[in-house]
Amino acid sequence: KVSAYDLNKIAEKLNLSIKDLNKAFSRKILREDEYKEIKTLLFKKEFKGIEKGTVIFLNDNLDVVRGYPKTYRAITLYPTIKKHFIDKVVIEEKLNGYNIRIVKIDGEVYALTRSGYICPFTTKKVKKFLNLEILDDYSEYMLCGEMIGINNPYTPYYYKEVDRGFENLGFYIFDIKERETNKSLPIKERINLCEKYNLPYVKPLAVVDKDEAHIHVREIIEKLNKEGREGVVLKDPDMAVSPIKYTTHYTQCEDLKSAFTFFFDLGMDFLFSRVVREGFMSYEFKETLEERKNRAKDLGEAILLPMVETINKVASGERVSEDFELIFDSEEDFDEFLDFMRKMKMVITIKNIEKIDTEEGVKIKAVIGKIYNKTNDKIISYLNGTLW
Ligand code: ATP
Repeated sequence: KVSAYDLNKIAEKLNLSIKDLNKAFSRKILREDEYKEIKTLLFKKEFKGIEKGTVIFLNDNLDVVRGYPKTYRAITLYPTIKKHFIDKVVIEEKLNGYNIRIVKIDGEVYALTRSGYICPFTTKKVKKFLNLEILDDYSEYMLCGEMIGINNPYTPYYYKEVDRGFENLGFYIFDIKERETNKSLPIKERINLCEKYNLPYVKPLAVVDKDEAHIHVREIIEKLNKEGREGVVLKDPDMAVSPIKYTTHYTQCEDLKSAFTFFFDLGMDFLFSRVVREGFMSYEFKETLEERKNRAKDLGEAILLPMVETINKVASGERVSEDFELIFDSEEDFDEFLDFMRKMKMVITIKNIEKIDTEEGVKIKAVIGKIYNKTNDKIISYLNGTLW
């Protein structure tokens, strides 16, 4: 099965040995996947420098789309920024949505999720929202960006700038990369190309010297915090070193709130890292005791309030789910997306479907609930007297 395609060529393209490739197969790090008739290989984990989410299209070219690299986090602004960057630092807003790579392979546009699946929902939306002529002229590029807005199936979060009345969803490019090497264009070049092809992109908030960057970032973070926005990503103008991220107190709390709504499923993974971020922020921002106590109160509320609310709901007989509302052009698109969610092993339930009239024609509005079984089941069991 594995030898049905040219392993030599794949190994060469990825700069791996055949032995390594076979190791990746046998460890199930490299797996076959399929979307409609399109066959791909997918890296489920990072492997010898090949990012998780890297996809190889099993066509004649064996087109490679590298995974989007991890963005490391600054825990302190000073001296981290000064140590990491070369000279200037571009401060960009970090948008809170989901990461998408858009590519054109054999004349077809695909939107890949962070883990390397072709997402039918996102593929349809980007084809609709964007004029992707750029990928005819530069088929070696991938457009990396954030899909944001409340009507999305992964990170539903409202953004006023992408509101179209019946749908809150939009896409902003934050990086253009060579898809086979993962090399980023310098920020100016990315912006020039986006302007030329009329594509939406994340605009720099400021460009500062690395020595003073911590002061500017702190000011920007405090402003974004008040506006209920996520944070910043700091970048080298030439993308010569990797970007780093830093998020607001607001985001730390929002993350905890959503995790503790489904606390037996998500609580553990979220808690420690958020609390540590808050600890270092409180130290670095030289808070007064009163400010620190307010932070502690926010944190405590973000954890306890959603947890007790969930216990209450389950106690009164409800099965709690995370609901998202999506807009589809047709029943067929809706069914295709449900199949995709099942393939992603998500346990879902359809809560509501209705036809809506929009200026773009009749659409389907569906409310889908993602079920967290562990949270529901464990709560019931403790309420019934099970011992921990
Ligand atoms: P990782 O830490 O591995 O990158 P994660 O899922 O924990 O993954 P996040 O904490 O959300 O990631 O932060 C990184 C992500 O932020 C990027 O993958 C990207 O999707 C998103 N992002 C939003 N805005 C920007 C921006 N302006 N520049 C770069 N990335 C951005």
